Amino acid sequence: MPPKSRPSESKRKPASESSSRRKRDAKDRAKQAAEVAAILAETYPAAECALHHKNPYELVVATILSAQCTDARVNMTTPALFEKYPTAERLAESKQEDVERIIKPLGFFRAKATNIRGMARSLVDDFGGELPQTLEEMITLPGVGRKTANVVLGVAFGHPTGVVVDTHVRRLTNLIGLVSSKDPVKIEQELMKLLPTDEWIDFSHRLIHHGRKICIARRPRCPECPLLAVCDRVGLPPLTGME
Ligand code: SF4
Repeated sequence: MPPKSRPSESKRKPASESSSRRKRDAKDRAKQAAEVAAILAETYPAAECALHHKNPYELVVATILSAQCTDARVNMTTPALFEKYPTAERLAESKQEDVERIIKPLGFFRAKATNIRGMARSLVDDFGGELPQTLEEMITLPGVGRKTANVVLGVAFGHPTGVVVDTHVRRLTNLIGLVSSKDPVKIEQELMKLLPTDEWIDFSHRLIHHGRKICIARRPRCPECPLLAVCDRVGLPPLTGME
């Protein structure tokens, strides 16, 4: 869905002039985070996980496969994979080379095939074929780290266990000035402090969507960005002609 325009925002003074390099205290940052979350919610009310899936098993497989790869490419590959292996039991009994052949277009296909087969085996042996619903149990599955676990627990089960920090969330939260770190774990901890729990799932989806549509890597479209008034634009040159 295209972002809605916010005419009132475009009249505000750009943050690059008003507040950009100003040091914010924790209270300021929490206020900024709330403003960013509110604008994202208004702009992308229906933003959701872009990985196609019909159940938690398919979501965890698709999320593991999405490492270092676009969601669109994963979505082109998973229909054939899920047709052949519709359950964790079937995937656990697959042959490595058969899985590799199907997911080859995704890159890192050997490691990814090993991970999804190992994850399926562990699901069957340790959890009766059903995905566990706690972060602690989820990250015991091969190939499942905090990011994947947060995605699956949030999207499939509606459990906000953390904030998903992918490459877009890492880049945008630093640009906006909500965090100052390249470490996804530190960023997640910071965002969990700044945002109320019921924002954790949607905030990430919306920010990822924004990173694809407007705040594109190396060519952010700041003049048309609904976040312009609340974004510090850290590290970007000042905008001209916006006064
Ligand atoms: S496009 Fe510009 S104003 Fe919008 S979030 Fe990115 S850096 Fe900030």
